[in-house]
Parts: sequence; structure tokens; C-alpha cells
Amino acid sequence: MAVERIKCLIIGSGPAGYTAAIYASRADLKPIMYTGMEPGGQLTTTTEVDNFPGYPDGIDGPTMMMQLQKQAERFGTEVRIGMITKIDLAQEAGGIHKAVVDNTTEIEAETVIISTGATARYLGLPSEQRLRGGGVSACAVCDGFFYKNQRVAIVGGGDTAAEEATYLANICEHVTMLVRKDEMRASKAMQHRVTSRKNITVLYNTEVEEVLGEQVVEGLKMINNETKEVTEIDITGLFIAIGHKPNTDIFKGQLEMDDTGYIITEPKSTKTGKPGVFASGDVQDKDYRQAITAAGSGCMAALDAERYLSEIEKPVEA
Ligand code: FAD
Ligand code: NAP
Repeated sequence: MAVERIKCLIIGSGPAGYTAAIYASRADLKPIMYTGMEPGGQLTTTTEVDNFPGYPDGIDGPTMMMQLQKQAERFGTEVRIGMITKIDLAQEAGGIHKAVVDNTTEIEAETVIISTGATARYLGLPSEQRLRGGGVSACAVCDGFFYKNQRVAIVGGGDTAAEEATYLANICEHVTMLVRKDEMRASKAMQHRVTSRKNITVLYNTEVEEVLGEQVVEGLKMINNETKEVTEIDITGLFIAIGHKPNTDIFKGQLEMDDTGYIITEPKSTKTGKPGVFASGDVQDKDYRQAITAAGSGCMAALDAERYLSEIEKPVEA
């Protein structure tokens, strides 16, 4: 197997990875980025991004990610298509981390920036998949604004669904919340926020049977899983809030994670428990999950990597 030795390996090509790449290449760390299966990350699955600062007229997700790639390449980042399939992280400061790309090439890296993101879970219905980007979204904070004064629905009964239902209720005319059990999993405080809103209707024991509409969402066919009664409502937006899966499988057993698999970093830092290994973006943040927060922590990761390298490269004093 061919082996290549580099200073900085960036895993993942979302806003966190590209921002880390811009900073790391400007600091002359000569970063090499592997894009993974989704070059450009989650934003390539959406149309309009309206809340990233610097784009007064908004920008579509794929274009924004291509611009970030160009910016990173301008300073010398090498962007490679490929998936890190295995990694062996060194224990000691100054140790070399070994990563395998697509089960073929081995990379030896002095620092590793993990920006592998998180993947939103979807229901898996064909009608839902067809209308993703046409009214079906997994991010209320990102897309809720497009449904101002309209009628929408949200699926899920956890804290995210409760929080997003409340967020949508501030913007939309009405929100129908579909909870598959006879109770919500969300904390009592979050449940209270939902039930105290006049323009949120919570339907328990209710699941999506079909999302209606050809090009855009026009309605929802729902089934009560106890009575088997099928009903329809008119909506223009459907938000799926049934959880995210952080892309951390290859790091399991090597890095500290919370009980849902998010990488734990030191407070106010991107440092993981392994020296020279930093985590940025959604992979270490289940609270904010926004492009700008991912980009901010990508910047932090590159600065942390640069500082780490200058610390270990310091000449030993006599
Ligand atoms: P991601 O964007 O998730 O990128 C992860 C990257 O890691 C991908 O390139 C993937 O291929 C790569 N990867 C994973 N595993 C490996 C591996 N083993 N080897 C190599 N690479 C790997 N946020 C906003 O601020 N505004 C919006 O309008 C907005 N709209 C959104 C709309 C939708 C439909 C969705 C799903 C999200 C939206 N978000 C929005 C949220 C935003 O996309 C995320 O917060 C952001 O993309 C997270 O960036 P990230 O760099 O951490 O990871
Ligand atoms: P979660 O707690 O895993 O909840 C997921 C919800 O989606 C559950 O109600 C689940 O139903 C439902 N669900 C899963 N698959 C479904 C399907 N196929 N069809 C219909 N419903 C489905 O995820 P989360 O809400 O994203 O929260 C993740 C973590 O972040 C939690 O620890 C949460 O407390 C935390 N969080 C905290 C806050 C806050 O405190 N402000 C805000 C957001 C998130 P069942 O209950 O029936 O399984």
C-alpha cells in the first residue's frame, strides 16, 4: 500500500472542512482534504441559503460550496475525492496518525481535522424523498422562513421537533406536529412550549402515510396507528425532525463521544482527547447545526492545529 506523509489531513468537505482548509493552507500547513461521499456536504442538498453572512441576496447551497472549494484551493489546499475508511489515531503528542483512503492508500498525518458532519434522518417514504427541496426539509431554522404565514407540519416528538415546532409557530400561520407515540419524548419544559401555543396542533399516534404534491408539497396523508384512520391536511412545507446521525463510526473506540455518537471536544476548543486531532462542525455540535457555526469551528480547528504543530516543533531548550 502506498504511504504519503502530510502535515494536515482534513476529513470532510462541508463548511467546517472548507473553512479549516482556508485557514490551514494560509498558515502553510499544506492541507489535504478528502471529500467523502457527499462533496460539499449537507448544503449541496438544499436550494436557497439565506442566512450565511455575506450573501445579501442569498445563494444556492451547491454554488456556495463550490465557491468555498475555490477559496480553499486558491491558498493551496489539495481537494481529493475519497473516503477515509479506517483511521488509527496516535496516543502521544507528536505521534503520527494513520488514515486509509478507500481501503487503498495510506496517509500519515501530523494533524487531523475531523469535519465529517452529521446526517439528518428521513422517514424513507418515496414521496418524501421526491419532494426533498420541494417543501420537505430537515432544518426548520434554515428553511422555515420560506413558509412565512403558511400552513406546515413537522414530524417527531423529541426536543428538536418541539423546539422547531415552536420556531415555526413564530413564522407560520399554523403548525401540525405528528408524534408517533401517545406521548412526546421531549422534556416537559419543551412540551409545555408546544402545548401552550395556539397555532400548534399536536396529533399523537400519528404517522405520515404520503406527502402529497407533484413538484412541491401540497398536503399530507396521515394515519392514526391505533385506529388506522387516514386523514389529509393541506400544507406547503413538511419538516422532518426525527434525529441526526453523526458520521463518527470510524472513530468509535478512539475518541470520546456522547451517548448519541457526537465527538466531545474540550470547552472553547476543537481539541479531542487525542493530541493533534481536532473536531469541527456538526460532528461535534448537536445544538446549533448551522453552516456559519460549522464554519466558525472549522476556523478554530485550523488555528488549534497550527498551534499544536508549533508547540511540538519548538526546539527543546538546553
Ligand atoms: P457537513 O456539511 O455535514 O459535511 C460533512 C462532510 O464530511 C461531507 O462532505 C461528507 O462527504 C464528509 N464525510 C463524512 N464521512 C467522511 C469520511 N469517512 N471520509 C471523508 N469525508 C467524509 N445551515 C445554514 O446555516 N443555513 C441553511 O440554509 C441550511 N440549510 C440546510 C438545509 C438542509 C436540507 C440541511 C440538511 C441542512 C441545512 N443547513 C443549513 C445545515 C448545514 O448544512 C450544516 O450545519 C452544515 O453543512 C454542517 O457542516 P459540516 O461541515 O459540519 O458538515
Ligand atoms: P431524539 O431525541 O432521538 O428524538 C427523535 C424523535 O423522532 C422521537 O420522538 C422519535 O420517536 C421520533 N422518530 C424517530 N424515528 C421516527 C420515525 N421514523 N417516524 C416518526 N417519528 C420518529 O432526537 P432529537 O429530538 O433530535 O434530539 C437529539 C438530542 O439532542 C436529545 O438528547 C435531545 O434532548 C437534544 N436536544 C436538546 C434540545 C434542548 O434541550 N433545547 C434541543 C434539541 C435537541 P419515539 O419517541 O417514538 O422514538
